[in-house]
Amino acid sequence: AQLDTLDIVVLTALLIGTIAYFTKGTYWAVQKDPYASSFANGAASKAGKSRNILEKMDETGKNCVVFYGSQTGTAEDYAARLAKEGSSRFGLKTMTADLEDYDYENLDQFPEDKVAMFVMATYGEGEPTDNAVEFYEFISSEEVSFSEKGGAEEKALESLQYVAFGLGNNTYEHYNSMVRNLVKFLDRLGAKRVGEAGEGDDGAGTMEEDFLAWKEPMWAALSSAMNLEEREAVYEPVFEVTEKPDMDAEDDTVYLGEPNKNHLEGSAKGPFNAHNPYIAPIAESKELFNDPARNCLHMEFDISGSNLSYTTGDHIAIWPTNAGKEVDRFLKVLGLQGKRHSVIAVKGLDATAKVPFPSPTTYDAVVRYHMEICAPLSRQFVGSLAQFSPTDSIKAELQKIGGDKDYFHDKVAKKNYNIAQFLEAYGEGKSWDNIPFSIFIEGLHKIQPRYYSISSSSLVQPKKISITAVVESVEVPGAPHVVKGVTTNYLLALKQKQHGEPHPDPHGLDYAITGPRNKYDGIHVPVHVRHSNFKLPSDPTKPVIMVGPGTGVAPFRGFIQERAQMARNGENVGKTILFFGCRKQDEDFLYEKEWEEYKSALGDSLEVVTAFSRAGPQKVYVQHRLRERAAEVNALLEQKAYFYVCGDAANMAREVNEILGQIIAEHRGVDRKKGEEVVKSMRSANQYQEDVW
Ligand code: FAD
Repeated sequence: AQLDTLDIVVLTALLIGTIAYFTKGTYWAVQKDPYASSFANGAASKAGKSRNILEKMDETGKNCVVFYGSQTGTAEDYAARLAKEGSSRFGLKTMTADLEDYDYENLDQFPEDKVAMFVMATYGEGEPTDNAVEFYEFISSEEVSFSEKGGAEEKALESLQYVAFGLGNNTYEHYNSMVRNLVKFLDRLGAKRVGEAGEGDDGAGTMEEDFLAWKEPMWAALSSAMNLEEREAVYEPVFEVTEKPDMDAEDDTVYLGEPNKNHLEGSAKGPFNAHNPYIAPIAESKELFNDPARNCLHMEFDISGSNLSYTTGDHIAIWPTNAGKEVDRFLKVLGLQGKRHSVIAVKGLDATAKVPFPSPTTYDAVVRYHMEICAPLSRQFVGSLAQFSPTDSIKAELQKIGGDKDYFHDKVAKKNYNIAQFLEAYGEGKSWDNIPFSIFIEGLHKIQPRYYSISSSSLVQPKKISITAVVESVEVPGAPHVVKGVTTNYLLALKQKQHGEPHPDPHGLDYAITGPRNKYDGIHVPVHVRHSNFKLPSDPTKPVIMVGPGTGVAPFRGFIQERAQMARNGENVGKTILFFGCRKQDEDFLYEKEWEEYKSALGDSLEVVTAFSRAGPQKVYVQHRLRERAAEVNALLEQKAYFYVCGDAANMAREVNEILGQIIAEHRGVDRKKGEEVVKSMRSANQYQEDVW
């Protein structure tokens, strides 16, 4: 008898089921195949380096791996701190692991007597960080494939015990979605969670305290799950710093701030990316504000000598250099000033410790180019320095600061101290030369490139990228120092150099502006490009509504530049409305003259709606203007207008979101809840896009 189609389907299903049953455990591995190519193409698949985490743990005798999904370095820092604490307090054999450095198809064979920790930041609209994209895709697809199979019986990850902490920001809709989803996936796959998953909130400014509050009960739960015994924590260096008196800073094997070997050995070659910046010439720079007390820079980077490309709406990352004044302060307070140019070699004391900068190098180069020395301090780090205090009374004070949240707030956080300012203030004039340099490599962040929304159009200038950046200078009453933004003040200094301007900085900042071995001379800065999903509609006839107060206008200058060019090219361009806000028309109205030029191409279809908050007795913001134009905004949205918001995530973007829901509700005769749902569905259809920070 012939088999009919139904029989074949049934038999095939049975066969697959049988194979799946007998290969239980390897099913996990089979699922990985669709990703094999994307893993192989990943930036991290470095030749010769094992991507097998279980093998790596075995070889190096580890029983605890702390994975991190990190974008700006905070998650990476927390991972390192967990690893360190696990080792010094509980005798765990720990390692940290960048999620993009490993494959995960053998996670189902994770030994029961070991533990995996996940420190996961959520980025943008509930997205994984760049280094966690592939892991996240893998783990979520495994989860789906198992639940499609009926889920419950297939507990592929039964042997995996894990803990998890998420870094998020409650001003975003998808708050901490990475850690929440990961926990959901892992739990369904049968993994054993130890303790509660923690969530840190950057939006509320409580990240550090959330982390500290989460980790104590976590350690208690882990101690009982793994029979760990707590001991008095002693400092165990992860890195060894060796001075090399036989070497000279001018030797051509010594890194003086060059980001990698490629840069050390002469003219750096591409491809240029987050691991290998392009030293871009600054083609143009100018001041946009007309206000002696504040600066806002327009800068153009020439990328024609690189393989870099961008499309309108992307981001550019700038690699900063610390101000000389802060580098000097740091070296001086540690008693290292005399040997700042001595050559040092830094190596990990165990095979899994990754030195965060190239070596051999000098103290000066590490502090200037690689360490985030100006950032706010963490309470835990202050506490860990107590043991190296110059006197017993200083030690007692640091222990108190490290152990008491409110005391720390009063004595450190409120004063905006960076690490060297803090040590200066508490050292009673003494030098802190007992502190091993390695503790800073471990305890401070690796300096992070800062992102800027590109403010030019790739259609108009494909080889020149512009940014619009406000220079950070924050004075807080009662704080002894003015907080000067690392990157923006460096850019300001570059602009001043380019124009031969005298140094007007009242706080005496200075920079090694020509870079390591003068390689950045002629006004260059290291950059790379990050592609984003913040994009104009592909159909230019679609109307667009843009809300971008302050530097939030940056990507919209690019959008409008692009639509004006399209109109000049004869294309039919839809209505283009920009809501822009600033303090006063004659102080900080960004690109005021340029909007007129674009109008000559776009005609009445371009409209710039302004809100000047300090022009009259009443403060007026873009949110108010949006309300005033409610009927028109709603009508445009009904014509499928794209809606964009850029700038301040904490207040403005959230309020705009709310107001839009209300406008829709009022003008379509539906209730508020329905209005909110419409905005939500616009978001998922990419009709509502945010670029906020
Ligand atoms: P940082 O040194 O990073 O300091 C930033 C702030 O941190 C300070 O102002 C202060 O509030 C706080 N701080 C620093 N040190 C201390 C301390 N010791 N104590 C207390 N507080 C402290 N910015 C723009 O101007 N234009 C843009 O188009 C733009 N686009 C962006 C796009 C994206 C996707 C993102 C993520 C950010 C964007 N930003 C933009 C912000 C930009 O990346 C930088 O954060 C900003 O320029 C400040 O960088 P900085 O290095 O000068 O300041």
